[in-house]
Amino acid sequence: MFRKFILYLTGFCFALLLLSFSGCQSEKSSTYSSVSMEESSVEALSQETPAQPVSETELSSLEETTHTVLETTLDEAITTQTSDEEQTKFIEQETSSEATPLPEINAETLINCSTTLYTYDQMEADLHTLAAAYPDILQVTTVSNADGTAILTADDRPMYVAYFGNRNASQQIFICAATHAREYMTTQLVMRQLAHTCATYETGSYNSLSYREIFDRTCFVIVPMVNPDGVSISQLGLAGLRSETLQAQIQNIYNADVAAGYTSYDFATYLTRWKANANGVDLNRNYSPGWESVTDRNGPSADFFKGDAPGDQPEAQALMTVINQLSNPRLALSYHSYGALVYWQYGQPEPLWSANEQLASAISNLTGYYLAGYSNEAGFSNWCVLEKGIPSVTVETGTVPTPLPLDQLEPLWQQNQEMWVMLGSVY
Ligand SMILES: [Zn+2]
Repeated sequence: MFRKFILYLTGFCFALLLLSFSGCQSEKSSTYSSVSMEESSVEALSQETPAQPVSETELSSLEETTHTVLETTLDEAITTQTSDEEQTKFIEQETSSEATPLPEINAETLINCSTTLYTYDQMEADLHTLAAAYPDILQVTTVSNADGTAILTADDRPMYVAYFGNRNASQQIFICAATHAREYMTTQLVMRQLAHTCATYETGSYNSLSYREIFDRTCFVIVPMVNPDGVSISQLGLAGLRSETLQAQIQNIYNADVAAGYTSYDFATYLTRWKANANGVDLNRNYSPGWESVTDRNGPSADFFKGDAPGDQPEAQALMTVINQLSNPRLALSYHSYGALVYWQYGQPEPLWSANEQLASAISNLTGYYLAGYSNEAGFSNWCVLEKGIPSVTVETGTVPTPLPLDQLEPLWQQNQEMWVMLGSVY
């Protein structure tokens, strides 16, 4: 009697799940989820009778009974005409204790855009979710040295890089975000670009090219968070760092910045406005071109300190490693905030001068950001252009001081939604 009741209950929940999915999913994915949920139901049934192991015959009999109950319940459910919303609510309540993950995702809504505090951990989880859902077009990995050892930040975080499209394409486009800690909304933007492009890969087109054509021709190489430690400091304060040594070091840097007159903020506000990495090095002053001429700071600081030597920071080493591994990088774009402008002049000779101007103009036309000239020495874009000969720009998103407030996120998205496919169609 009890078993029958359990069967009925399971069948009923299952029927509601089926109803819900068939209403909003494609036929293929609906079938997939049915099978998967069915297996879970059978698994749950066998777990509820631990004293009596279920034989294979019994199991198939159980499955048949489940199907019968299911069909009856399905009919009843259809005639009762419960609204989709009520059904979903009911299913959530019924299945929450089992915590069975749904096999498919809605990439369009995956990235949490209801808060600005989109953390490294959240990004890491979303990258793995997307890579599992789109294995044919997305590979996610962490950056390693030539000997295979991981490149880690000072607080021992791996650096993530995503390869979208055809990994073996004859050319690559490189995009990175959140070099500066407090500019972390750019990570959210790039992650949303990634998720959106996954979701629309099969159906999208731009300038009469299908997304499939664009991403088959060019692999997009994405580092969504160049400065994980710094972002964690700006978002979470000292609690963003796991190392107590680093926490003490940040406190010392604050004291030095106060003593030198570089800040008048209280400690908490100072941390939210942090730009550097956890070593107090400005990652956009750590590259070789013009490094000697950077003299804003003579020691670790919340911003502007260039480090003790060009490229001595793990985050800079990681970016250079990723770029050096590419067979034919066509361009590099580094997202920063704020200013709604594009930096493109790095003192480069022709034909790089014109190539950079052309790239900056294309981005300006898409986003409405204005063309600015020169930014600073020793930045990542400077290195790409002057050391590697790769057209490269620094794009400043947002119109108010950083960290950008939540109401900046939607404009950022609107302006940059088609960035990848625009670049992919031009290059
Ligand atoms: Zn910046």
